[in-house]
Amino acid sequence: MTTSFDGPPIPIDTRAAVLDQFVADETGRRGSRPRGVAYATGLDDVLAVMAWARDSRTPLIPRGAGTSLEGHLLARGDELILDLAQADSILDISPADFTATVQPGVTRTRLNTAAGEFGLQFTVDPGADATLGGMAATNASGTTSVRYGGMRANVVALQAVFADGRVMRLGRAVRKSASGYDLKSLLIGSAGTLAIITELTVRLHPIPECLASVRISFPTVAAAVDAAVEMLGLALPVSRLEFVDTASVAAINDLRGTRYAEAPALFIDLETGSAAAANAGEREIDRIVRAHGATAITVARTHTERHALWEDRHRLFFALKARSPGHRFLVTDTAVPCSRIADAVGTATRLGDELGLDISVAGHIGDGNVHVVVPYTDANLPVALQFSDAVVRHALAVGGTASGEHGIGLAKKKYLRDEHGAAVDVMAGLKHALDPHGLLNPGKILDV
Ligand SMILES: Cc1cc2nc3c(=O)[nH]c(=O)nc-3n(C[C@H](O)[C@H](O)[C@H](O)COP(=O)(O)OP(=O)(O)OC[C@H]3O[C@@H](n4cnc5c(N)ncnc54)[C@H](O)[C@@H]3O)c2cc1C
Repeated sequence: MTTSFDGPPIPIDTRAAVLDQFVADETGRRGSRPRGVAYATGLDDVLAVMAWARDSRTPLIPRGAGTSLEGHLLARGDELILDLAQADSILDISPADFTATVQPGVTRTRLNTAAGEFGLQFTVDPGADATLGGMAATNASGTTSVRYGGMRANVVALQAVFADGRVMRLGRAVRKSASGYDLKSLLIGSAGTLAIITELTVRLHPIPECLASVRISFPTVAAAVDAAVEMLGLALPVSRLEFVDTASVAAINDLRGTRYAEAPALFIDLETGSAAAANAGEREIDRIVRAHGATAITVARTHTERHALWEDRHRLFFALKARSPGHRFLVTDTAVPCSRIADAVGTATRLGDELGLDISVAGHIGDGNVHVVVPYTDANLPVALQFSDAVVRHALAVGGTASGEHGIGLAKKKYLRDEHGAAVDVMAGLKHALDPHGLLNPGKILDV
């Protein structure tokens, strides 16, 4: 480690080659070179860095695994990156309480491996192997949220360091609480702009007795979406309900060497307590998808088959990146009410065609949360932005949200007032009250 300035009293790196790695995010969006990277291993380190930041008036950008997609981690000036990936101890797993308490740098797959020893699972699954701190700070959700909810539903308590140096415990490790203002939930999704999370207690869920994964191909996008929406209306034990379009399937085949039919498809997980219930669920799904013209139905039952199927789905973004070398990527993540899902997918597809863009559509259809991935170069950036803007405006017009899960970051600030109206002023007041000197991830979510 090297430091060329009078930094905080923990390991810090200021080498240009290292700092250059923090200039762009996963989508290729770029910021400026940060002042340095400080590596924290726990509460004391965070307190020391926060005190130093206050004294020197240096803004901090907390960082987990660095997988966020909306410019959350990009520096705009001389911010110091506070890397929390090494604060990675699993402090407690309590099977009797169905909870785990971890430091923020623990990744979701590590927690799942540890919880699995007790027959339990941590269900929030954004695909990327993100940290629990980063996932809480972005209110991450993913393939399993249709059944288990996202981070806000699964974090029961937090410890956090505020800009003035106060350490607070927010929430309690209980199933429900009606006590006081819910400050824990305020921090979830706050993207490191209000406090630094130094510990989390999260819910664990029993691993179900029977798991089956089903992949179904359809003749058209509309048929796949309509089948998914019909499933939502029935009491099926579905824990994942994902849509991928033809371009997405083709990209997966290219990257993974699979030979899936290149057609719109649904990826579904069924979780049940018995083989009989699983069979009943499969029969019902079979009935629905055939009524919508399904052309191929494949069931994966073994752990290996299921793992391969979901790995294919999870690698989708990288498969699409590999298909368009030399491009950067816009990823929309609007969410709309269930009744407008078909409309949202249809609108995105039509707009992409009209604008001549090589888009692909996929996403957590069970949550009404659809991603459109738009590869772009400098030459067609204005058209890509026009597309992304139209998709967000459409979602807002039908009662949806600009971001179902990736967050506002830098990229979507301009939609905040259209979505929240005067509540944006309350958000700005909260930011100012908790971080009056703008030391915590400034410029993200809100300009204050
Ligand atoms: C291939 C791919 C697929 C993805 N799919 C999904 C998906 O399905 N659902 C989804 O929700 N997201 C998805 N994402 C986005 C990303 O994985 C999530 O946003 C994730 O929650 C970020 O976690 P992280 O550890 O990488 O955090 P980082 O990217 O490091 O940080 C994210 C934000 O959290 C803040 N932060 C980090 N740690 C702390 C802390 N301890 N205290 C306070 N603030 C902190 C940072 O300042 C930043 O604002 C995907 C990303 C990729 C690359």
